[in-house]
Amino acid sequence: MKILVVNAGSSSLKYQLFDMDSGEVLAKGLCERIGIDGAITHKRPGKEDYAQTADLKDHKAAIELVLSLLTDAELGVIASADEIGAVGHRFAHGGKMKKSAILGEDEIAYLESIIEINPLHGPPAISGFKGCKAVMPNIPHVGVFDTSYYSDMEEHAYVYPIPYELYEKYQIRRYGFHGTSHRFVAAKAQELVGNKNAKIITCHLGNGSSITATVNGKAIDTSMGFTPQDGVPMGTRSGALDPTVPSYIMRKEGLSADEVEKLLNSKSGLLGVSGVSSDCRDIRAAAANGNHRAELAMKILVHNIKKIIGSYVAEMNGVDALVFTAGIGENDRALRAEVCREMSYLGIAINEELNESCPRGEDVELTAVGASVRTFVLPTNEEYMIALDTLNLSK
Ligand code: ADP
Repeated sequence: MKILVVNAGSSSLKYQLFDMDSGEVLAKGLCERIGIDGAITHKRPGKEDYAQTADLKDHKAAIELVLSLLTDAELGVIASADEIGAVGHRFAHGGKMKKSAILGEDEIAYLESIIEINPLHGPPAISGFKGCKAVMPNIPHVGVFDTSYYSDMEEHAYVYPIPYELYEKYQIRRYGFHGTSHRFVAAKAQELVGNKNAKIITCHLGNGSSITATVNGKAIDTSMGFTPQDGVPMGTRSGALDPTVPSYIMRKEGLSADEVEKLLNSKSGLLGVSGVSSDCRDIRAAAANGNHRAELAMKILVHNIKKIIGSYVAEMNGVDALVFTAGIGENDRALRAEVCREMSYLGIAINEELNESCPRGEDVELTAVGASVRTFVLPTNEEYMIALDTLNLSK
């Protein structure tokens, strides 16, 4: 079966068309500036990328353009849209949705009802779904939720120590995000260590970053919380802070709640500390030129990653595998070495030479001789995971 995976943002729509018989990606691409003017980049393996501007007034117009390119005589990879058996939609927030599900009226009504706790990602994802459903009404549309992986966490891991009524009234709790990525790499690590009861810590370190602890294939804790703002410092997000810091900044700087949220979401983290960039590559380059704040930003990141790894080892009473994934985790060799240094008490040590020379884009084991914890770099593939769930629900 051929499955189209769609990830809709407020002004963007990413797509990948999978042939699930071979596992191959037939084509993928990105629509940008939806609702503004519109542009698309369309990629096919082994062929030159194609780009054009287009009038994309909404997500429906974007998906219509995607389908016309997928079926185009020259640029296309399928003869007709009828070859697409199902569509998988990425949802960052699924609220109480415990697993991926075929999206019917009830599911969409529920997802609309939780927009208040998911104001950034909810509306575009729903509008992306509606656009696709209008254009492809007769095939299953499946929702895959980043939060579902955390639906088995125990109450004590997700209820915050604030008045309990606030949790009941407003659903304020730890939800966790990036679940599809953590699920993908944790399953792979479980397979590699050959133990289905394995205790695994997965570090998804990209523009947004989160760390998750998995036991017996189920997430027991994760660093992101009520929103993706919690946990380790990220490109532009602060990560965890003393809870009084935002209100103190509000009073001192005369900011509103929305303004301080924006400051912590888009002007903090690596960008905020370094003053250089939100991108690790730029920060590393500045640090190499003696920029103290750039060096400090990376040290803060490493410090916080170590702290969370340590806390999860304590929670799980051990760890069998440690995984690095996503843009920074897969590519920043220095960061992996810095995180794993002086962790021998926990049984974590990597072969630093292998870490330096290991190829990008491949599953690699970095474990040093004698270390009891197996450390891996495993490229994530959220889109494939979404396609797989979609296939399983559409058969
Ligand atoms: P997103 O969270 O947007 O999906 P990615 O997982 O693609 O992000 O990660 C993007 C980040 O990965 C970039 O901001 C950059 O900091 C980091 N990155 C990518 N390549 C490298 C590299 N070679 N060295 C260090 N960091 C890198």
